[in-house]
Amino acid sequence: MVGRHLMTKRRRATSLVGEDTTANSLPWFALPKPLPKGAAVAIIGAGIAGISCFQALLRAGFKPVIFERGESLGAGGSGNAVGLIQPRLTTSDSLDGQFNATAYLHAVQYYSHQENILEEVIWHGSRGGIQLARNAGEDKRFQKLVDEARLPASEMEYMNPTALSEMAGIDIHQSGLYFKNAGALRPVEILKILSRDMDIHFKVDVEHIERRKSAWYLLDRAGNSLGEFDAVILTNAHEATKLGDIRDVPLTAKRGQVSFLPASEASQNQNCGLSFGRYVTPPFDLGAGQKFHVVGASYCELGVGEIEAAQNLNAADHVKNLEGLSSISKSYDDVVISTSTKGRASIRATTIDHWPVLGGVQDGDICDQHYFDLRHGKPAHNYPEITYQTGLYCMTGLGSRGLQMAPLLSTALAGLLAGSPNVLEKRFLDAIHPARFQIRKLKRKVGR
Ligand SMILES: Cc1cc2nc3c(=O)[nH]c(=O)nc-3n(C[C@H](O)[C@H](O)[C@H](O)COP(=O)(O)OP(=O)(O)OC[C@H]3O[C@@H](n4cnc5c(N)ncnc54)[C@H](O)[C@@H]3O)c2cc1C
Repeated sequence: MVGRHLMTKRRRATSLVGEDTTANSLPWFALPKPLPKGAAVAIIGAGIAGISCFQALLRAGFKPVIFERGESLGAGGSGNAVGLIQPRLTTSDSLDGQFNATAYLHAVQYYSHQENILEEVIWHGSRGGIQLARNAGEDKRFQKLVDEARLPASEMEYMNPTALSEMAGIDIHQSGLYFKNAGALRPVEILKILSRDMDIHFKVDVEHIERRKSAWYLLDRAGNSLGEFDAVILTNAHEATKLGDIRDVPLTAKRGQVSFLPASEASQNQNCGLSFGRYVTPPFDLGAGQKFHVVGASYCELGVGEIEAAQNLNAADHVKNLEGLSSISKSYDDVVISTSTKGRASIRATTIDHWPVLGGVQDGDICDQHYFDLRHGKPAHNYPEITYQTGLYCMTGLGSRGLQMAPLLSTALAGLLAGSPNVLEKRFLDAIHPARFQIRKLKRKVGR
């Protein structure tokens, strides 16, 4: 009887990531010990992950410093011309749908309420964003999202093509969702604004990190010491696993190219972003005097040896980005794909389960020793709590929505370091825990 009751309870509580989300006590996801106030923390990488982490850590009473390989901000994925903040909702009550909705609402608040900075400076152009239904099935799904109130009615509305055309400022052929507080950011400008007064060392390629006695030591390429720190946070995207031993984390580099499309007389009135698998932003002055829509983005995995050349633009991706736009709106009828089409290509860091990776980094060897027989299905309470590499944390795998997720993730990470109540529920912290891949592997009995 007791067994049957437990079985039912366990089944009900199993989340998408295959873990019991109601148990705060899964020993392999126990929280790391907090760091003392005032601890010196080295952050590697000055993308949106590193910059938002710095801000959250400073607020939590730590002393952060950033090391960045690039000469300036936005050297990696965060250097795109434009980034959209727009939700990705799911109709089922899935953990990832809830996480994405939470991250979106948090991002809207975060970017809108920066101290001493006007909203108009942060958000580019008018607010609002449209997700177009690509077929009848999607149209039904969008109506269901509204019926199920996946976002409050004040945030999201289902609209017909006439109403959407009015919102967008251009003629639109499909129905879809209108998100009132969505918007477009200029990521590099945002990084500049957020990083005012931050301690950032540019042109420093951190080659090696090492724990000796009670501190972390950082070395550059020439073997010079960059100092000693109480803690290190790896926010260097797809390269995080090169610097730290984050056991079994399958980080992959996905190249993405956006195309800059000159605004036509008709399309220059577009005043909010349109997404439909791809996206078209409102026109921006990208510095050349002429206004361009940013259209994107391609998505392709990079093989060994292809990363170096990932930033080179390719014509085939421009064609993929721009083809068929006139089926969205006749304002794009005059779109011409030419050899002078410009754009930007960069890399997203992704994981196999599409969740980011955030938290204290486990000691992989000790995990192997303690949890080697997980596949036998013994109850979790038979195992000791996870052992962490003291003072090592990561925030990576932000994928295609890093600008949107980073504010929430940074606040959560600062909460972990400070040991304060966390902005994220424990079930979300478990879903993004760096040890999840090693634990899954041990459960499956795959030989190392
Ligand atoms: C084409 C494209 C379009 C996108 N559009 C959107 C969008 O509309 N909305 C959205 O929310 N997200 C979008 N994204 C995703 C978003 O841009 C990324 O998820 C986000 O920028 C990742 O930020 P990050 O700080 O983790 O990584 P990055 O921005 O890549 O920063 C990592 C930094 O670490 C530095 N670094 C690496 N190794 C070292 C080292 N050893 N020493 C020192 N420094 C190091 C790099 O130079 C880099 O500056 C898009 C991504 C792409 C590619």
